[in-house]
Amino acid sequence: MYILDASAFINEYHTDEPVASIPLVREELEDESAYRFDAMEGSGMHLHIPDEGTVERIERAASDTGDAGELSRTDIRLVAAAFELDGHLVTDDYAMQNVAEKLEVPVEVIAREGIDEQRNWHFQCGGCGREFEEQHDRCPVCGSGLSRKNPA
Ligand SMILES: [Zn+2]
Repeated sequence: MYILDASAFINEYHTDEPVASIPLVREELEDESAYRFDAMEGSGMHLHIPDEGTVERIERAASDTGDAGELSRTDIRLVAAAFELDGHLVTDDYAMQNVAEKLEVPVEVIAREGIDEQRNWHFQCGGCGREFEEQHDRCPVCGSGLSRKNPA
């Protein structure tokens, strides 16, 4: 079972595994991603509401890892759902990944390309040092390899 967070719907995450999410995620989605959520629910996606006891356990774990301030109600409940369903959590959120790791919940990351664009990654040439906003296989100027660089 793969438990999907909002970014999984926004980034059109695909898996052949059975999937689940929580009702709070639906409230964070708009337009096409909300439609995608509804369509996946219609084709068998499980909606899970975790027990309050599990939610409290996740909140304690988030306090232990120092991630509590970074996590929304929805985030906490997604980790709780993955924990209860003994599933994989699908997210690119680092705070959620940290807490999941502490609870030994496996995490799947979403396709990096789309996420990287949203975070405004830059690509820097290892040869001439030029920076590009788009990814290229090779530097268009000198032909060296590019590496990712986060401007923030
Ligand atoms: Zn170059």
